[in-house]
Amino acid sequence: MARINDNYLKLQAGYLFPEISRRVSEFTQANPDATVIRLGIGDVTKPLVPAVLKAFHDGVDEMADAATFHGYGPEQGYDWCAQIIIDKAYKPLGVELKTSEVFISDGSKCDSANILDIFDISNKVAIGDPVYPVYNDTNVMVGRSGELNSKGYYEGLVYMPCTEENGFNPEFPSEKVDLIYLCFPNNPTGTVATREQLKAWVDYARENDSIILFDAAYEAFITEEDIPHSIYEIEGARECAIEFRSFSKTAGFTGVRCGLTVIPEELMGTTATGEKYSFNKLWNRRQSTKFNGVSYPVQKAAAAVYSDEGWAQVKEIIDYYMANAQIIREGLTAAGITCYGGINAPYIWLKTPEGMTSWDFFDKLLNECFVVGTPGSGFGPSGEGYFRLSAFGDRENVETAVQRIREKWGK
Ligand SMILES: *Cc1c(COP(=O)(O)O)cnc(C)c1O
Repeated sequence: MARINDNYLKLQAGYLFPEISRRVSEFTQANPDATVIRLGIGDVTKPLVPAVLKAFHDGVDEMADAATFHGYGPEQGYDWCAQIIIDKAYKPLGVELKTSEVFISDGSKCDSANILDIFDISNKVAIGDPVYPVYNDTNVMVGRSGELNSKGYYEGLVYMPCTEENGFNPEFPSEKVDLIYLCFPNNPTGTVATREQLKAWVDYARENDSIILFDAAYEAFITEEDIPHSIYEIEGARECAIEFRSFSKTAGFTGVRCGLTVIPEELMGTTATGEKYSFNKLWNRRQSTKFNGVSYPVQKAAAAVYSDEGWAQVKEIIDYYMANAQIIREGLTAAGITCYGGINAPYIWLKTPEGMTSWDFFDKLLNECFVVGTPGSGFGPSGEGYFRLSAFGDRENVETAVQRIREKWGK
């Protein structure tokens, strides 16, 4: 009989979101008249904007005619699409890239997981705590970790606690590592790295021969002027960083699927015999073999995000979500609750009042305010005592939720 990959058995059964659903349905069955407001979701709620939809439709229509039909495209994405992204999303930041350094994909969850294909299993990995669970679980799946220990950490992985004390900017790894995952603006904490903080990471990576895997899925939500949108805004990052971006949150592509990974040509690793080898070449080989490109209509739609019209429309929705974030942050702060994030990210990371555990606060919020959020402890041990609220909801619901919380805790 075929052997299974036993590493999968080390994973905690998908506990967080099923448990949330279980508690919510139990509550709604017992309280059929309560209007429950969900501020727990990590998904967008607004539809695609008109300019994107038009490009998407046009792309589909082209597929209907033999003269304009598109079959297999380049596995790395169409050059014209990569060029638009470079011109509109990177050049304005002062970042120069070649199209051969931009790999268009079906999303950054997949990319940030698949990237492990091009790294030897012996590499030591550091991840944040709390963290986007994909970085943790994919390393467990490939066999880079031991078992889950009683503190909630996998043996063999290095965790970098993100706490109130360090402003949720992770501390440097406690031991020498080869790969460091960073996510800014952060999910779940909603916090960002300043230019100085990011520079310190790049300097650290270069001094320690580490590679930074930089997840910039929420860069479009940055509102403050001097916060970097790309790690390549920092000098030296081309030699030590891979960047992931996504159209999911930026332009409502969660159900459409499009993202990109940037691997600069200078980024090198070593072979078994100690020679330098390009990660760009390896990823190119990996994608050519295991991926067959993003569909033509989707790349047309993605490119339209960066048209003048498309960007104005997309920006309006981002501003709408960020106004929600402000309402949540200011409302809760007025109720005496300590809040982080919500300024450069669509997530508010609140400190549970009266020292409650994350799950106790979840139950209280559900039972007394009919509001659903996400317990911070679900993102890692250091998330205990915190709670994530998302700004992707409808304005009226956000206002009602905040009102209810203020009535409960407010002065
Ligand atoms: C939502 C999200 C993504 C985007 O994933 P896609 O696969 O592109 O939809 C990436 N990273 C983080 C941290 C996210 O929260």
